[in-house]
Amino acid sequence: MTLLHLVLGDQLSHSISSLRDVEPRGAQVLMAEVMAEATYVGHHQKKIAFLFSAMRHFAEELRGRGFSVRYVTLDTPDNSQSLRGEVERALAATGATGVVVTEPGEYRLLEEMRGWQAHLGVPVEIRDDDRFLITQSGFSRWADRRRELRMEYFYRDMRRHFGVLMAGADPEGGQWNFDKENRKPPLKGLAGPRRLSWRHDAITSEVLELVEARFSHHVGKLRPFHFAVNAEQAEAEFEQFVTEILPSFGDYQDAMVAGEPYLFHSMIAAYLNAGLLLPIDVIRRAERAYHDGAAPLNAVEGFIRQILGWREYVRGIYWRFMPDYAGRNALEAHRPLPALYWGGETKMRCLGSAVQDTLEHAYSHHIQRLMVTGNFALLAGLSVDEVCEWYLAVYADAYEWVELPNTLGMALYADGGLMASKPYAASGKYIDRMSNFCGGCAYSVKDSTGENACPFNSLYWRFIAVNREKFRGNHRMANIVAGWLRMDEMKKQAILARAEDCLVRLDAGTL
Ligand SMILES: Cc1cc2nc3c(=O)[nH]c(=O)nc-3n(C[C@H](O)[C@H](O)[C@H](O)COP(=O)(O)OP(=O)(O)OC[C@H]3O[C@@H](n4cnc5c(N)ncnc54)[C@H](O)[C@@H]3O)c2cc1C
Ligand code: SF4
Repeated sequence: MTLLHLVLGDQLSHSISSLRDVEPRGAQVLMAEVMAEATYVGHHQKKIAFLFSAMRHFAEELRGRGFSVRYVTLDTPDNSQSLRGEVERALAATGATGVVVTEPGEYRLLEEMRGWQAHLGVPVEIRDDDRFLITQSGFSRWADRRRELRMEYFYRDMRRHFGVLMAGADPEGGQWNFDKENRKPPLKGLAGPRRLSWRHDAITSEVLELVEARFSHHVGKLRPFHFAVNAEQAEAEFEQFVTEILPSFGDYQDAMVAGEPYLFHSMIAAYLNAGLLLPIDVIRRAERAYHDGAAPLNAVEGFIRQILGWREYVRGIYWRFMPDYAGRNALEAHRPLPALYWGGETKMRCLGSAVQDTLEHAYSHHIQRLMVTGNFALLAGLSVDEVCEWYLAVYADAYEWVELPNTLGMALYADGGLMASKPYAASGKYIDRMSNFCGGCAYSVKDSTGENACPFNSLYWRFIAVNREKFRGNHRMANIVAGWLRMDEMKKQAILARAEDCLVRLDAGTL
C-alpha cells in the first residue's frame, strides 16, 4: 500500500511527523508550489523566493535520501494551483491509497484539510506538528488551569519541564528574567556585525527569475537576495549568531539604530518557521554557550525566552482561540491602512525607516515591529484586519499562527488584554530613548502640540482619551488615564487638535 506524504512549504524538516517511520523506498512524497498559497495575501517577493528555493532544495535532499518526490513547480503544466487539487492529481498519477500530512500552521488550511477525506475518498491522516515543544492539547491543559494566560508563567513551566537553564528546582542565576538588564539604549555608533550571505546556486537563480516574472507586482524588493535556503546554511548563520552576536543580544535587544536593521538579533525566525532549524536544537545550543562561558546569562536567558516562551505561547493562544480570535477588535479600530505602510512618503523618521527596512529585507526586528509600526497603528486606530494582513504579507517569517497573536493581541490590544496586561502604547519619548531616530527627524520629539510636534505624542494622548472608559478596569492604565484627566483643559484641547491634524495628514499622505 503506497501512501502520499504531503510536505508543505513550512515543513522542511527531515524529522517532520508526516515522514516519520517511513521507509524512503516505496514512499511517495508530494510537494507543490501553488498560486492559492502564494497569493492569499500579497506576500513579499523575498518571502516567496525564500520558500520556493528552500522547498526545491529540500525536495533534492529527500531524493538524495531515497524518497520518490513528486515536486510540482508553479509553472508545471496542469498545476491546479491549489493544494487539494495537487493531492488529487498525485493520487491519480501514483495510485496512492491514502494521504499523510503534518498539521498546517493555519486554521484556514486545517479546516480545509479536514474536508479532504470526504472529498478525495481516501483516508487522510493529519499528524501533530511535534517540532513545537508543546502540543495544542498540552497548551490547552496548561491554559485550563489558569485564570489569566500570561506568558511569563507559561515560560517558567516550560523551563522547568524541559530543564532549560535550571539549577535544580531554581532558575539559573536565581532569577527567571533579566529584562531589566536588557533595555540598554544604543551607544553612539552602535552597529551589528556583517552577516553571512550566500551565493545563488542554479535552484535559487531559477526561483528568482520565476518570482521576477510572476510576482514583481508584490510588495518589497527581491534583490539582493541573501537568505539561507537549506538547513546547512541556516545552521551556519545560527552558529555565527551564537559565537559572534549572542553575547550582545540581551543588552541591546530593545535598541533601534537607523541603517542597522538587524543589530544583534538572530534573524532565524524565517528558518525556524519553515523548518530549516528546530527550536529545541537552537535552545540547547544557546544554553551550551552560557555553560561554556561564551555568552552571559542575561543574553542567553533573553534569547531562550523568545523561543521556549513567546514562540510556543503565541502558537498556543492562536489555536486555543481561533477562529473567533481573528475577528476581535476590542478597541474598534477601523481607519484604513495609510500608504506610508507600503512605502509612501513620510517625514516620521522612525516609521519611514522601519517600513523601508521591511520592504528591503522582508525583516525588521521585534522592537521596530512592536514599538514603531505596531505602536503607530495602535495609536492611530488603524484597521485591525488591514494591519494584520500587512504583517502577514511583508515579513519572511510570517505565518498566521505567529503573526496574528503578535499583531492583533500584542501590538494592537484587539483581544482586549488576553495576551498583554496593558497596551504597548508609547509616546515619542520611548522611541527617543531607545533609538537614534529622533535627532535627524523633521518632527520635534519634545513637543506634543504645534505643527512640528512628534505625531506619536499627540496620538498617544488621544488614544488614552478616546479609550479611557475601556481602560477603566485596568489597574496598570489607571495612572495614565488619571494623568490625562488631570491635564490642563487648554493643553488637552491643543493636543487633541494636533492629533486630529496628524490623522488628516496621515490620510492625505503628508504626515
Ligand atoms: C506586530 C508583530 C508581528 C510579528 N510577526 C511575527 C511573524 O509573523 N513571525 C514571527 O516569527 N515572529 C513575529 N513576531 C515576533 C518577532 O518580532 C519576530 O519573531 C522577530 O522579530 C524575528 O526576528 P529574529 O529572528 O531576529 O528574532 P530574535 O529577536 O533574534 O528572537 C529569536 C527568536 O525568538 C522567536 N520570537 C521572538 N519574539 C517572538 C514573539 N513575540 N513571538 C513568537 N516568536 C518570537 C523567533 O522565532 C525569533 O527568531 C512579531 C512581533 C510583532 C510585535
Ligand atoms: S520625533 Fe517622533 S516621529 Fe520623529 S523619529 Fe522621533 S518618535 Fe519618530
